[in-house]
Amino acid sequence: MMDLRELYQDLIVDHNKRPRNFGKIDDTTYYAEGFNPLCGDQLTVYLNLDGDRISKVTFEGEGCAISTASASMMTEILTGKTMAEADELFELFHQVLVGEIELDDDTTLQLGKLAVLTGVRAYPSRVKCATLAWHTCQGALHKQHDGISTE
Ligand code: ZN
Repeated sequence: MMDLRELYQDLIVDHNKRPRNFGKIDDTTYYAEGFNPLCGDQLTVYLNLDGDRISKVTFEGEGCAISTASASMMTEILTGKTMAEADELFELFHQVLVGEIELDDDTTLQLGKLAVLTGVRAYPSRVKCATLAWHTCQGALHKQHDGISTE
């Protein structure tokens, strides 16, 4: 049987080493800077919208492996989603991470690749690393440009 934990670890390492959609979108008003003071993670999320659909999402910045991998996966997952779908997914992800929703087969399926990040749910400080990009993305969607913090 394949060791799930190892697979999860590999995915996080891979996204941390080769972050997807890393960079800036120059001509957008949808961006926000986020900071996780507990860990020192800092990143900026940029979005292009087509109506209420996210047509492009990128990020840049520096942080730990969890925050970078989470941001990278987020950009892949949110591309093509509507704002409402993005909100819904973040809500689910967050609730699983803080232990409000059980991580069962259904939830795992809904989370897709993000499920690999739920290993941090035993560690409250790492939960902030995993959700920083998402909080920042919400800020970007609402044109709240800076001061997005996990605290
Ligand atoms: Zn971190």
